[in-house]
Amino acid sequence: MDFLQPTSWADALAARAERPDAVPIAGGTDVMVDLNFDRRRPGALLDLGRVAELREWTVDGGAGGGGTVRLGAGVPYARIIDDLAAQLPGLAMASRTVGSPQIRVRGTVGGNLGSASPAGDAHPPLLAADAVIEVESAARGTRRIPASEFYTGVKRSALAGDELIAAILVPAAAGPQQYCKVGTRNAMVIAVSAFACALHPDRRAVGTGIGSAAPTPRRAPEAEAFLAGELESAGLWDSRGELPDTLARAFGERVAAAASPIDDVRGSAAYRRHSLSVMARRAAMWAWAQYQHDRKAA
Ligand SMILES: Cc1cc2nc3c(=O)[nH]c(=O)nc-3n(C[C@H](O)[C@H](O)[C@H](O)COP(=O)(O)OP(=O)(O)OC[C@H]3O[C@@H](n4cnc5c(N)ncnc54)[C@H](O)[C@@H]3O)c2cc1C
Repeated sequence: MDFLQPTSWADALAARAERPDAVPIAGGTDVMVDLNFDRRRPGALLDLGRVAELREWTVDGGAGGGGTVRLGAGVPYARIIDDLAAQLPGLAMASRTVGSPQIRVRGTVGGNLGSASPAGDAHPPLLAADAVIEVESAARGTRRIPASEFYTGVKRSALAGDELIAAILVPAAAGPQQYCKVGTRNAMVIAVSAFACALHPDRRAVGTGIGSAAPTPRRAPEAEAFLAGELESAGLWDSRGELPDTLARAFGERVAAAASPIDDVRGSAAYRRHSLSVMARRAAMWAWAQYQHDRKAA
């Protein structure tokens, strides 16, 4: 097996084009498991670890002050937790649940997207925040794919064979975000089900992301429109009021209805649906309480 080690983004793209048999490797926390279990035998590994651009993040100002975070695909979870919890609270919460400290130091969001597992923890907060995945090939240049269009099947994505993931563009949070994950224990666990929500008070919208309860990570568009519509029509965005329990429950039911879970070793379809409705209700309540707290403090 060849080991390709480009030191610039241009060289990495050239190598990707020249060696279709090469598997990119970032933190290696998925790739090395596959190699060790002989699930993959690539002709080459394309190590992205020396491409400095992939390990950087920047925040562009943006008219409203919030701006957009451009998160290099090779930024590990540990740095998101340490450096970006204020701008990307949902992704930081999800990052804290990934594996163990060792995995969080090595593992990257680009790698989570590359694997595109329905259980990947980065996906629900990226969906809820309306993130966009920036991919690039030597032949066709850059394309930007909304997270909601990135996942195309179980462990499949819209990434073409000659493309690499350059970065993830995530709007900095304009309101509270939450991430909930159900597993069989508190750490080192693949999600049985997971849910992310984001309140976007700037545009009076609600974002959602469902994990481990459908062939791909997905949003719950009807639940989003329902909650945003109810908050608007009841004048709640401008009130000091609590989120009515009936509204949070109805939101949870709509989130659960958007899932299409399966029975497997980790959990039953019925449990996944039920747990989603509970997580979505709680996440909405917590996010709303945070929204009101922040408004009082402002
Ligand atoms: C013990 C253990 C616990 C884990 N726990 C969790 C968990 O709790 N939650 C969770 O979500 N995951 C978990 N994982 C899985 C893994 O850590 C994550 O999916 C992680 O995000 C992978 O990132 P990586 O940088 O290590 O990816 P790699 O293993 O380097 O790559 C993963 C895939 O992405 C591709 N890839 C990587 N970078 C790029 C790029 N820039 N462009 C194109 N393709 C690219 C690779 O070719 C490969 O197909 C765990 C893994 C282990 C071993």
